[in-house]
Amino acid sequence: MEGPHWGAAAREWDAVDCKTQLESMCRSPGALREMLLFVQTVLAADPRQPSFLFLLKYIRAAGGLRALGDGDGGAQQWRLAGGAQQMAAGLAAAVAGAGGGEVRLSHIVESVAHSAYNSAAAQNHIECGSDEPGVYTVAGTVEGSGKPFSLTARRVVVAMPPPVWKQVAFDPQLPEDHRLLAESMVMGCVAKVLAIYPQRFWALEGEEADSSTGGGAGGADDEVVRDAPRRPPRRARGGAGGRRLEECGPVANLFPGDYGGRPALVGLVTGADARAFTALPEGRQRAAVLGQYAEYFGAPEAAEPELFVVKEWMSERFSGGCFGGLTPPGLLSRAGAAAAGRAAGGVHFAGSEAAARWVGYFEGALDAGLRAALEVLAALRPGLVGSAATSGGDGEGPAAAL
Ligand SMILES: Cc1cc2nc3c(=O)[nH]c(=O)nc-3n(C[C@H](O)[C@H](O)[C@H](O)COP(=O)(O)OP(=O)(O)OC[C@H]3O[C@@H](n4cnc5c(N)ncnc54)[C@H](O)[C@@H]3O)c2cc1C
Repeated sequence: MEGPHWGAAAREWDAVDCKTQLESMCRSPGALREMLLFVQTVLAADPRQPSFLFLLKYIRAAGGLRALGDGDGGAQQWRLAGGAQQMAAGLAAAVAGAGGGEVRLSHIVESVAHSAYNSAAAQNHIECGSDEPGVYTVAGTVEGSGKPFSLTARRVVVAMPPPVWKQVAFDPQLPEDHRLLAESMVMGCVAKVLAIYPQRFWALEGEEADSSTGGGAGGADDEVVRDAPRRPPRRARGGAGGRRLEECGPVANLFPGDYGGRPALVGLVTGADARAFTALPEGRQRAAVLGQYAEYFGAPEAAEPELFVVKEWMSERFSGGCFGGLTPPGLLSRAGAAAAGRAAGGVHFAGSEAAARWVGYFEGALDAGLRAALEVLAALRPGLVGSAATSGGDGEGPAAAL
């Protein structure tokens, strides 16, 4: 697993989708079911969508299969009390506090143009990644007011998922590998469902079923990071007759928690199920999820939340879905495993899809952001940062990505 994209079988693995490959590999129906559910819930994908090589790279970027699971040391171990947006808000405050930095929200970037475009030198600059000086004009409109804006920069960092690169007109256009990613990478599909209840009715792992009523499931709100609340047992204790959560309805992943001190269930509907679910009218979405909870927990009170909210991520204009971008069969082989993070002239790429570690996670966004920032520093202040500082851990240098 050190570098699945370098392996002799890489092209073969990239030519096939996850479902087909897993069906040919898993001898036990139980193992196959778990792996397909893993792809659906962790990548938020229909297992027929991403290539098997993409799955291997994704697992490798997290440090192994276990790290992506629910247990200790895994991706779900911690929860940010108060919400994940605090990370972005904290980074923005740090930029502002660092003397003269400015974060402009609601500025929709529509174009990134090199000053010397139309000259052969500019085209060469973008395609060959030369360090020839130049100025970029970044332009767009302010959301709400519609006012145009523009600014100039010697380097630009694009930290958006590749499928939304298409919304920006790059002049000269991006190299072919980047265009391939923008055109063909797809985002995962997620609908997030929040149900808030007056009282907790679910048992948590390790709890006796009959002690499950009353009290919130979460910890103190003033902690920045806390252990994620324990999850409900995988098997129902009541009316579901031992059926698994995903056999009772559309929610495939369930996180108990608290919302403003009130007990809450956060459910994720993922992959192809998310598309089918969000096509339903509101009333049927509600009935499907609450009916699932009532059956799974054997608790009729599940049908009576104080608040029920569905958030659909696929139609978000600036991400197009989540948790991250996926490559369908053949794309990694055509675009190159490292394309998403490879700079094009003075245009650098960050964002979780361009990370070497924890692709598709916040940690990946930080990893790629740091790498891109070091690339820019190395170019503009060569004395300050050595080129080694921008090298990724797997020997592909700063372009180690995807
Ligand atoms: C429901 C859900 C649950 C998740 N749970 C977890 C989790 O538990 N743990 C975890 O680690 N990760 C989780 N993720 C994934 C995590 O959110 C992403 O990995 C992370 O946000 C990626 O960060 P990023 O900076 O690469 O991209 P983004 O967060 O997508 O940031 C890109 C930014 O670019 C902006 N943008 C896009 N186009 C333009 C434009 N034209 N002009 C100006 N701005 C533009 C967008 O508005 C956005 O602010 C979850 C995601 C979702 C949706």
